[in-house]
Amino acid sequence: MTDLEQSRLLKTEIPGPRSIELGRRKTAAVSHGIGTTMPVYCTRAAGGIIEDVDGNRLIDLGSGIAVTTIGSSSPRVVDAVRDQVGDFTHTCFMVTPYEEYVAVAEHLNRLTPGSGEKRSVLFNSGAEAVENAIKIARSYTGKQAVVAFDHAYHGRTNLTMALTAKSMPYKSGFGPFAPEVYRAPLSYPYRDGLVDKEMGTNGELAAERALSVIDKQIGAANLAAIIIEPIQGEGGFIVPAPGFLPELLRWCRDNNVVFIADEVQTGFARTGAMFACEHEGIEPDLIVTAKGIAGGLPLSAVTGRAEIVDAPHVSGLGGTYGGNPIACAAALATIETIELGGLVERAQQIEKLMKDRLGRLQADDDRIGDVRGRGAMIAVELVKSGTAEPDADLTKRLTAAAHAAGVVVLTCGTYGNVLRFLPPLAISDDLLTEGLDVLAQALSDL
Ligand SMILES: *Cc1c(COP(=O)(O)O)cnc(C)c1O
Repeated sequence: MTDLEQSRLLKTEIPGPRSIELGRRKTAAVSHGIGTTMPVYCTRAAGGIIEDVDGNRLIDLGSGIAVTTIGSSSPRVVDAVRDQVGDFTHTCFMVTPYEEYVAVAEHLNRLTPGSGEKRSVLFNSGAEAVENAIKIARSYTGKQAVVAFDHAYHGRTNLTMALTAKSMPYKSGFGPFAPEVYRAPLSYPYRDGLVDKEMGTNGELAAERALSVIDKQIGAANLAAIIIEPIQGEGGFIVPAPGFLPELLRWCRDNNVVFIADEVQTGFARTGAMFACEHEGIEPDLIVTAKGIAGGLPLSAVTGRAEIVDAPHVSGLGGTYGGNPIACAAALATIETIELGGLVERAQQIEKLMKDRLGRLQADDDRIGDVRGRGAMIAVELVKSGTAEPDADLTKRLTAAAHAAGVVVLTCGTYGNVLRFLPPLAISDDLLTEGLDVLAQALSDL
């Protein structure tokens, strides 16, 4: 880690004068289609702190959207990247290959759920990997239709926009979208009312409802794949009821439909397991990874059962930069950091700390409708006092107050009323607690 002091410090208002000046240059130079959550310009980041151009030190509860899970500029990643940049920066794996790519594939095959023979293929972004997972599923099954779910987020390219549920800001005005994409209802325990009196929230009922839609509106004979995030990310950190995912997977196996788990946000120790599918005891046919895979460098992957991933013809998959050697070196260092640093267990500790704190807050404040998530992927759903009506306005004001106090938090959710926490696993308990204290104070002030 750099010598960045691990404490919050406000030297100026947020944003400070230098950030405001850079914001002016951004407005003049950068597409207005790019928004920023917090217009504060970063100079350094490490552990649980982001330092800005005005010398402020902010508590990071976002990890650059679940990317710097092991911490920004994590020491092994810094060393591995420096070494690799000095050796070679690019040859293109499709021209003259290199060991780092193969080694990343070996680790992915080892680490993902499922004990059978597996293969991996590497790309640059989450969306690109999702697109390729669909290509692979179509090639393997000879079928075309794809099912995604309510509240899904799978990216911003054409096919992944079609898979994504929410219109604003991701899709509005950008159509037409890719054909043969269908949507099924999700399990959303806080809102879907699928509660069995004896069993509590009932995942089997939610699966039945989804499978009925799939069966009646598409038909297994036409369906290549269903794709689902084991915990919805942008859609609101929605943890499906137990039984939902296993039931979908069982149906896929019975019907020659490829089950794709999009673990772009949930993967790599984020949820207190290496992959979130492990919490459900399921072994997906294909797993898509990105974000946390390489400590901040752009890399993504599709990993899965060998006979499926091997289905496309030779040279049917690829890309100029996919599996870039610098990104691969960073991924190898990231995996080593997670395994040697006990970061899966660290994510479990963070879950306990956050759920205890947020649960106590919920007990005293009926504007907190739900506290949910796993590991270091925790959210609170904000509602109008004592109802289940989403309160997007409160969410906005609360985030603004947190930002002004030097805490980086993000929102998500179809209704814009979910505050989400994705702290780096390198954050200290003290900083994490301080970040939550700031939020609790802001909530009580509002
Ligand atoms: C972020 C995300 C994507 C898209 O990844 P990009 O790298 O932004 O293309 C896909 N799926 C999920 C679940 C994500 O969270």
